[in-house]
Amino acid sequence: MEKSIHMNHQPNDPNLTTWVNVPPNSDFPIQNLPFGIFSNTEYKAPHAGVAIGDQVIDLAALFEQGHLNGLGLPEDNVFAYDTLNAFMALGKQAASKVRTRVSQLLLADNPELRDNEELKQAAMRPMDHVTMHMPVFVRDYTDFYSSIEHATNVGAMFRDPNNALLPNWRHLPVGYHGRASSIVPSGTPITRPKGQYKDPQDDQPSFGPSRRLDFELEMAFITCKENGMGNSVSTAEAEEYIFGFVLFNDWSARDIQAWEYQPLGPFLGKNFGSSISPWIVTMDALEPFRTESPKQEPEVLPYLKTEGKKAFDIELEVFLHPEGGNENKICHSNFKYLYWNVNQQLAHHTVNGCNLGIGDMYASGTISGSDPKSFGSMLELAWKGTKPLKLDDGSERKFLLDGDTVTMRAYAEGNGVRIGFGEVSSKILPAR
Ligand code: CA
Repeated sequence: MEKSIHMNHQPNDPNLTTWVNVPPNSDFPIQNLPFGIFSNTEYKAPHAGVAIGDQVIDLAALFEQGHLNGLGLPEDNVFAYDTLNAFMALGKQAASKVRTRVSQLLLADNPELRDNEELKQAAMRPMDHVTMHMPVFVRDYTDFYSSIEHATNVGAMFRDPNNALLPNWRHLPVGYHGRASSIVPSGTPITRPKGQYKDPQDDQPSFGPSRRLDFELEMAFITCKENGMGNSVSTAEAEEYIFGFVLFNDWSARDIQAWEYQPLGPFLGKNFGSSISPWIVTMDALEPFRTESPKQEPEVLPYLKTEGKKAFDIELEVFLHPEGGNENKICHSNFKYLYWNVNQQLAHHTVNGCNLGIGDMYASGTISGSDPKSFGSMLELAWKGTKPLKLDDGSERKFLLDGDTVTMRAYAEGNGVRIGFGEVSSKILPAR
């Protein structure tokens, strides 16, 4: 078997080209190579793959046929499982080696897979013929609240415009423990939740389908290493624990949330569903897109200090697609706007000794910028219903209606390379 010998191969090199068809503006050039779990008609059991152009590379098949030999992987085929947890548990270095090896196999001048029809039959699937699944088993899910613009907007609407930020907000990355069981992959419809709400003018609460259903534009990182209960992870160590990122839509019922959230925080207004994009874009692939975070004032406590560029320049877009209508772009934001970076989030999460799990998910909180077009929720875009959004079919939205589809897309772009996340897209179904 011919083996590639590119020892110093750099998978992020913008000059790399591949023999696989990569459509213009594809989210998945050879410099990306995100990991996911897919199935198709030939191999019904979900297992691991990598996205490239309009194809999915079957990692279980590559491993089985010896094309991932020499990377120090265990004998057990970790790619044959229906989640990436076993693979991620091998650590970030193992994942980097696999990504580098797959990059070599896909290089324009490497014939190993390119000229092996039998292997291509076994290990390549057209992306439009596969079904994507949850990439990981999520045991625990945490939602942060790390956008100062979002926290200020919500504080102004829900509490007091003059004291929108609570006194702790600039001192620690506020978060809460969410519900992991209802995190679902893109394409899974979301049923409108029912619950209690009480409008300010009413004396008594009412019960029924939420009338203020909303999305939240977020990104989430996934951990691949355990720290052990009682141990903390410093901001400097945090990145050893972070495998990669997905897009995250944290569906929210604002009327239920507003009535229930004091004194203990979000509950039924949030736990009915969260949707993610199915491909995990690795931190490795995002390295070229590191950038500065907003300045933090006042200075944070020593355990939250970070050095260097800890934010990522990732463009974020939200589209609303009414039933039978067109897609309307309603928001354009950026991941780099976040006040608190992921290193700080993870250090704060574990400073008390909380143990992290493999496959656990940590959402950023709604990512809003200062421009009203960058607000990452309907609550903010339509300012609590006082400024309805106009759609191209002439209809208006204060919040989401049954039949609406919300689609989020994200990409980092530079040096002619686009590292995309694909999309998270879900339709709202009527309450049951
Ligand atoms: Ca949220």
